[in-house]
Amino acid sequence: VIELDGSQGEGGGQIVRSALALSMCTGRPFRIANIRARRRNPGLQRQHLVAVRAAAEICGATVEGATRGSTALSFTPGEVRPGRYHFDIGTAGSATLVLQTLLPALLAASAPARILIEGGTHNPLAPSYEFIERSFLPVLRRMGARVAMRLLRHGFYPMGGGQIEAEATPCPRLSPPCLLERGAPGAPEAHALVARLPLHIAERELDVVRRELPWPGWRMQATQIPDSRGPGNVLTLIMPASELTEVVSVCGRRGVPAEEVAMDAVRQARRSADAAVPVGEHLADQLIVPITLAGGGEFRTVRPSNHTLTNIAVVERFLPLKFTVVREDGSWRVAAASMSS
Ligand code: ATP
Repeated sequence: VIELDGSQGEGGGQIVRSALALSMCTGRPFRIANIRARRRNPGLQRQHLVAVRAAAEICGATVEGATRGSTALSFTPGEVRPGRYHFDIGTAGSATLVLQTLLPALLAASAPARILIEGGTHNPLAPSYEFIERSFLPVLRRMGARVAMRLLRHGFYPMGGGQIEAEATPCPRLSPPCLLERGAPGAPEAHALVARLPLHIAERELDVVRRELPWPGWRMQATQIPDSRGPGNVLTLIMPASELTEVVSVCGRRGVPAEEVAMDAVRQARRSADAAVPVGEHLADQLIVPITLAGGGEFRTVRPSNHTLTNIAVVERFLPLKFTVVREDGSWRVAAASMSS
């Protein structure tokens, strides 16, 4: 049994999610203590708990400690079962993070699987639906995965109620990615969405983007979402390039002017453009599990976050893989190679 310490490094929910993903794919059981010890509300919260229960259902695992607020969990996986699944987080907890936890196992199943997850689709501290669609999944597809995904309904904090559906076709082995260049830039896109709020919020956000990022070829759209359970606003900037697409999403918050929300997104987009690396901070930590399952790979990125470094430490416990993180000409190269080769 692999013993993990949930307080190590970043000390957040990702340690649990990565352990679940790898345990399901490798068949190796794990025990984790001090779950989310570095968070204000330690222990398993709704989103994490749904990820645990969903993982258990998909692979028929034996689980102890899967209760709200629990700081210790043990997980003994069985065989991954393809089929149709439906999981409801019940709050605005991130549906994309639950999807990322389950996807590797669904790809390793013996037949196609379809999964519907209800919860938040646009959360401040998680990948937005567009981030998964335009940035994360294209990398996974380059590694050989066949995944289709649809946003059926938007879900914003605090009401949630969003729906994401994904269909995975078995992929016996992911191939190691090599992401060292961003490639030729394409036309940038700005999508400002509002739900149950005036459309001028979205239009003001786009005005700021137009003024602050005078890049050629912008495709901009302000949209009123008709069927969201609660109010919400998100501004998403998409910067495509031939090798990889960067996505910045910033959620509006009550009491924060649209202009401020937009400036937050603008600053992140500028930082990304200046860094000129293919893999941004968030994608970097999210690629660690797929690379581990592929048995290797490499990418060029910004200074690795605590999430990335912690994730590396977790995955190295499950498989004989060694990651190296090296600074090179103002960027960082993260590479993984199998220790048996
Ligand atoms: P907690 O940290 O409270 O335990 P959590 O379960 O949401 O909560 P974290 O460990 O913080 O988990 O992981 C958050 C994940 O969301 C990371 O993979 C991170 O890269 C990703 N993420 C956060 N913000 C963004 C963003 N703006 N765009 C894309 N991904 C993001």
